Amino acid sequence: MSEQFDVVVIGAGPAGYVAAIRAAQLGLKTACVDAFVGKDGKPALGGTCLNIGCIPSKALLDSSKRFHDIEHNLAAHGISTEKASIDVGAMVGRKDKIVKQFTGGITQLFKANKVTPIAGYGTLHPNREVRIKGHDGSEATITGKHVILATGSVPIELPFAKFDGKHVVDNAGALDFESTPKRLGVIGAGVIGLELGSVWKRLGAEVTVIEALPDFLAAADADIAKIAAREFKKQGLDIQLGSKVSAVEVKGDEVHVTYNDGKADQSLVVDKLLVAVGRRAATKGLLADGTGVEINERGQIVVDDHCHTAAENVWAIGDCVRGPMLAHKGSEEGIAVAELIAGKPGHVNLDLVPWVIYTEPELAWVGKTEAQCKAEGIPVKTGSFPFAAIGRAVAMNETAGMVKVIAHAETDRLLGVHMVGPVVSELVAEAVVAMEFHGSAEDLARICHAHPSLAEAVHEAALAVDKRAIHKAN
Ligand code: NAD
Repeated sequence: MSEQFDVVVIGAGPAGYVAAIRAAQLGLKTACVDAFVGKDGKPALGGTCLNIGCIPSKALLDSSKRFHDIEHNLAAHGISTEKASIDVGAMVGRKDKIVKQFTGGITQLFKANKVTPIAGYGTLHPNREVRIKGHDGSEATITGKHVILATGSVPIELPFAKFDGKHVVDNAGALDFESTPKRLGVIGAGVIGLELGSVWKRLGAEVTVIEALPDFLAAADADIAKIAAREFKKQGLDIQLGSKVSAVEVKGDEVHVTYNDGKADQSLVVDKLLVAVGRRAATKGLLADGTGVEINERGQIVVDDHCHTAAENVWAIGDCVRGPMLAHKGSEEGIAVAELIAGKPGHVNLDLVPWVIYTEPELAWVGKTEAQCKAEGIPVKTGSFPFAAIGRAVAMNETAGMVKVIAHAETDRLLGVHMVGPVVSELVAEAVVAMEFHGSAEDLARICHAHPSLAEAVHEAALAVDKRAIHKAN
């Protein structure tokens, strides 16, 4: 007889481990199966986010920002230093230490909450039987009254640019370069391309980003994307829009990229090439025949509004289902599903998942863009406010960017809040709260914001919706 659990979670990323902890908190006997193996060859919890995604990239972004500040930004504060140098090995070592701290932290949390971790590759069979192939070749079977699939996503590989881990790399490879590449090519000006492109640019690489779409950051509000493009250009990031890559060839220690920029074929020679053209749901080998779980044409597990699949008591959350591929979205789904299993209400509002891009300046937004509102025929009024007129931002010498508030033209209800500027990853939280409470621009405008603070830009942008910003001409 296989061991029976109330809940078996497959995948220990931010969706799966959070679901497991919440289920255990609610008194359910819970196991969490995960196949990830860390750089040290040992099983590591936390999935892509903790091991090779959000956390390590933020560690490198922070290190590279400090280096870049010394080189370029401290003189304005009257601080001078000898020429800065960077030990990439030490920087990557610090990142690895942070990763270990956090993945080890999940092990501790599992212990504290009595979640049983099982290292190995899980496959779902009919009747919620989960067969696990261990890293040593061993096999085990467990059964769940409920099973939660949380297997995440994997990078999309271009057929003509196969990852080799050395010259042509994915996000994981670009976190572990041994030294700063002299020339870095990036295919895809999305979140990963811009964040990791920024890391290596700040450390001295010449970075060329090749993007297929004609518009820069098409998912962001156009006014925000325009400012971001201007700032990235100033930093020397060479972004080629409307460009299609047709060939990638590794010749010795060089990567030769051929692309068409809409006018002519261009060639680019780089030392490393990061391919960041999106991710797809990781469902390969997950489902045996006859489970009843359905997969759509994009390879995602099909779920209803409550993350329930077509099979009884089988749920799916995070990157392997519809919706944005964001860690926090997966975590919220994990909590919601654990609570639904325990008979409580659980719900995630996919319309109000905040987005953040951790470049310099940062981008963050929640809700609809102005273009989306127009396309949906929603009448809007907007207000914006630049960080250049915010005392705290000027004191920090980080004045690029603005906050833009979009409200319904008649009801004043907040429809979207978009930001580009210093630490807007934190400022967006206020907008999410206001919008979750169905707030209006007037609500944001009437809330007292500390002075001097960056959050005053949100306040002033809300005031500007009614043309009554104080510190700029309306
Ligand atoms: P992305 O979807 O953000 O960007 C991919 C970009 O590649 C798009 O702009 C697309 O137009 C372009 N592209 C696609 N095919 C191309 C081609 N053949 N040639 C040139 N350009 C091409 O994907 P990503 O940057 O790979 O990130 C993957 C996922 O990870 C995203 O869903 C993202 O949300 C998530 N992520 C989020 C964060 C964050 O929240 N800060 C950080 C990293 C990753």
